[in-house]
Amino acid sequence: MFKALRLEEIYEKMVSSEEYKTGGWRTFKPVFDKEKCIDCGSCWIYCPENSIIKKGKADYDVDLEFCKGCGICANECPTEAIKMVLEEK
Ligand code: SF4
Ligand code: SF4
Repeated sequence: MFKALRLEEIYEKMVSSEEYKTGGWRTFKPVFDKEKCIDCGSCWIYCPENSIIKKGKADYDVDLEFCKGCGICANECPTEAIKMVLEEK
């Protein structure tokens, strides 16, 4: 049955995705080739888990606690600087 919620109740039920370590879902992980990176930032923009870390100019890494291995970053990279590789468990 429909129950109207007050805005405060909705906020209480909302949780941040930071509480969920989505890295456990991963089978493939992104590996960066710095030589091919043109520092466009597309991987950082499109990552749904906000797990791309910019370390410096054309130097990116990934937070494996949150990267779920979806491959969007590799798909969006215009220079194929990111390869998805099978992760050894
Ligand atoms: S594989 Fe998916 S979750 Fe992992 S860094 Fe790339 S876009 Fe983000
Ligand atoms: S999408 Fe590719 S070229 Fe662009 S910043 Fe990321 S790794 Fe570099």
